Amino acid sequence: MTPLPKYLQSLQGFFLIMSFVLGTAVGSFANVCISRWPAGLSIVKPRSRCPKCMNEIPWFDNIPLLSWVLLRAKCRNCDLPISIIYPTVELITGLLFLAAYWRFGYSPATPVYMALCAAMVIITFQDLADWTIPDEITLPGLPFGIALSLAGMYWGEASGLRVQSVFDALLGALIGGGILFLLDRITVLLLKKPGMGMGDVKLLAMLGAFLGWKGTLGTLMMASVIGSFVGISVLLYYRKRGDATESAPVQPEAEKAAKKDAADPDEEITLEGHYLPFGPYLAVAGIIYLFFGPELINWYVAALSPSSSVMVIR
Ligand SMILES: [Zn+2]
Repeated sequence: MTPLPKYLQSLQGFFLIMSFVLGTAVGSFANVCISRWPAGLSIVKPRSRCPKCMNEIPWFDNIPLLSWVLLRAKCRNCDLPISIIYPTVELITGLLFLAAYWRFGYSPATPVYMALCAAMVIITFQDLADWTIPDEITLPGLPFGIALSLAGMYWGEASGLRVQSVFDALLGALIGGGILFLLDRITVLLLKKPGMGMGDVKLLAMLGAFLGWKGTLGTLMMASVIGSFVGISVLLYYRKRGDATESAPVQPEAEKAAKKDAADPDEEITLEGHYLPFGPYLAVAGIIYLFFGPELINWYVAALSPSSSVMVIR
């Protein structure tokens, strides 16, 4: 991380804590976006209300993380349970902001990458809940990422930015959007199956602008690996459950019944084989690349190099 100037060094701990607190507050706002954007509602007004009793939630019941714990996950007015998703989003955003400060330190890159992390949290949870990726993020995100590369070009290393060439950002966006667009067209036109959708295309184009062409390919690779791993785990899980409930080999009926028990719509859809949400994997992989990209590339190149293969053989 970029070190703090000397006169601020005693405040290091304070900045770390503030990053986390800021992250939970932004996470609270992220929750508003996740629940209102799919319905086409304004995220600015009205103030948050309980969906059951319509009581306006006072500020002291709307403190990130704390209120959920203090209220024991229930509305103060009507006892309606408050989903654990809310504090989860706040906690994850808080931790990511903390990590962004830890990783990028005292540099202009830190606030920008905090915003990128928050954007990826919103995309992940909205895609899981609603199977949509908000244009509200990806459409302005793409030109913003490209503009950011101009700042990286101008300030160079001092900016702390991942991409320091506008050519790299443009190429990243083009490769990211292009690969997924082609994949989508091939699936729809040749295989006659629903493709991954334009939301994913726009998301990887945006990430490409922020992470450059190497970052785009790295993100896509990691997203595919994570996605396959999760997909296979889910399949194995249901196969095991099917075996346990039925002595005969897994029947479609047994699988269907097992699926009905599952509360997670994401898993159900994966098995049904129509729409597979890819957005969460792209978002998670993009964040991993943001934090560890250069190290991952070095590790990957080292693993592929001849000298290391000799070592493996020995
Ligand atoms: Zn209520």
